[in-house]
Amino acid sequence: MSRWTVLGLSRAELAERFAALGQPAYRADQVMRWVYRKDARSFGEMTDLPADLRQLLLREAEIGRLEVAAVQRSADGSTAKLLLRLADGEMVETVLLHHDYGVSVCVSSQVGCAMGCRFCASTRGGLARNLTAGEMLAQVLEAQAAAEGRRVSHAVVMGMGEPLANLGEVLRFVRLLHAPEGFGMSYRNMTISTCGLVPGIERLAEENLPLTLAVSLHAPCDRLRSRLMPVNRRYPLSRLIPACAAYAERTGRRVTFEYALIAGVNDGPGEARGLVRLLGGVLCHVNLIPFNEVPGSGFERSSPDRVEEFRSILAEAGIPVTVRREMGTKIEAACGQLRRRAGKAGEPG
Ligand code: SAH
Repeated sequence: MSRWTVLGLSRAELAERFAALGQPAYRADQVMRWVYRKDARSFGEMTDLPADLRQLLLREAEIGRLEVAAVQRSADGSTAKLLLRLADGEMVETVLLHHDYGVSVCVSSQVGCAMGCRFCASTRGGLARNLTAGEMLAQVLEAQAAAEGRRVSHAVVMGMGEPLANLGEVLRFVRLLHAPEGFGMSYRNMTISTCGLVPGIERLAEENLPLTLAVSLHAPCDRLRSRLMPVNRRYPLSRLIPACAAYAERTGRRVTFEYALIAGVNDGPGEARGLVRLLGGVLCHVNLIPFNEVPGSGFERSSPDRVEEFRSILAEAGIPVTVRREMGTKIEAACGQLRRRAGKAGEPG
């Protein structure tokens, strides 16, 4: 029989495993403390467990931590990008970001991605597979271990992959990450980012958790958006924006719209005014992202002047807008870039 994995099990499920081994339920709490609070990488370290139980666990179970294949830190120390090797040899990326307000981890939800956004490196080799909740938790723990003593306070599911295409495991992940006997992160500090899978947004709204929904918009009209993001042909703006508005109403949480500014493509004043019309009345916040140039995509970053003009049109129309602080560009923190360089993602067709 294959071994079971601690990461990915709730406290109740873990207690069941211990019951099957003839052990009391409090063993689950002990093991969770080691795994989530004390950075334990093996059962051998769990010195408050009886020695024979540690031996039994070494045979029957595993923790589910991941091998850190590479770490890149930015020169200013604000960002660290981890390349993690999964048990089957696949690679994922996780990014650790130090902000003024805390420390956030950017978690991948899939190996590769099937969504085909034209500007994104993660999707170039297609989708390899979904990640499990345990593999997403392991990313948080590896980021925590790399955080040099500061507590990881925020999580954004904004790494490789489309989280709403793997919603069951992503929901399991956020619940486990929230569990007070586990990592204990507040839902309010978690964000799920989607390219716009409307049925997934509706399902997420039904969960009614105070998570932040981020939607990658990148264009104010269907013609342009469908060109950049094939998903828009299936779920055009006339369906996407009402689904976002409904999410905001249901959860009381402001929706974040991500908009990467690409020179001469989506960064003109006309697009900014289109965005104002599109988002008028929606409880939202727009995050303008300086585009990360991906070799071979043919897209370039907008000039700082264009970014500022775009920002001021939104701001003057009363739309809350921020320009994402530049982080991680120097270490290729844009989706999928490190993994591609490590040669795991396949070359563009
Ligand atoms: N699939 C999800 C989450 C992963 S992508 C989504 O689409 O939201 C995370 C964010 O990075 C998205 O907003 C995505 O559009 C953006 N992104 C992808 N490639 C980029 C690039 N080269 N430069 C800037 N942002 C990029």
